[in-house]
Amino acid sequence: MKYGGYQLKEITPDITLLYGFPEECCMYVLKGKEKLLLVDTGMGTGNLNEALAAIGPGLPVLVFNTHGHADHCGGNSQFPAIYLHEGSFADADRAEEEKKTLPGAEPVEGLPCYDWKKVPVREGDVFDLGGKTIEVIETPGHTPGCICLLDREDRILFCGDLVVGKDHGEHMLAYVEWFSFSTVSIETLHRSLQKIRDREDEWDVLLGGHDAFPLEKKYLYQLMDMCGDILSGKAEPFHPVLPAQYGNITCWKLEREDTCILYHDEVIFDRKKEERP
Ligand SMILES: [Zn+2]
Repeated sequence: MKYGGYQLKEITPDITLLYGFPEECCMYVLKGKEKLLLVDTGMGTGNLNEALAAIGPGLPVLVFNTHGHADHCGGNSQFPAIYLHEGSFADADRAEEEKKTLPGAEPVEGLPCYDWKKVPVREGDVFDLGGKTIEVIETPGHTPGCICLLDREDRILFCGDLVVGKDHGEHMLAYVEWFSFSTVSIETLHRSLQKIRDREDEWDVLLGGHDAFPLEKKYLYQLMDMCGDILSGKAEPFHPVLPAQYGNITCWKLEREDTCILYHDEVIFDRKKEERP
């Protein structure tokens, strides 16, 4: 059954996956007794409020962006206010234009179109939905403003595109996402991964922004090892690749079993060699 153009799938009694167009991200609706929380707004390919009303009729909704990419915040204008990290403000502003270049993101007629307000969130902010508490964890990596949302009761860490699972058909699972080509170094990514690892007794799986594939902790460990090897110069990456979607910047691809990192030589360390102590 579709609501507002979205396929709804129950993950737990309090968590519903909202799935629209293949290119857009997976959205998640977390349901408390008093409020709903929407994780990301996709590309705005459907009527998000209609889908939300099917999940929690009459409940107020807090809307979050895990980061500012167009496939995660293209539906922001359907809401008066969006919670996101300050580091994502500029990305989110660009997303409105950027999403027009994405396939399938045709504007839908008759939807609300707010000049939405940015509400900044920071490390440690906690949102009580009524019997369900969600905590913000700052995790720069995929972009500088990336956040994870920890659902304390269901023990799920919604990690946006920080770590993404891909369904590989028969042998299923998952490799873990590239990032880089951005301004965020492997060093910073490593710290963010370490941060969620330090809190691993509070969550059981990661749920990322694409393919809705729950990732066990072993992927996180493996990705951390790979970052460590890149930092120590021990990594043996594949040939450089030139992903057209990133402006053909030369990237290295490091693959190991079910994990993969795409990175750029210029952004391994936070500071250039000569600036390091
Ligand atoms: Zn992204």
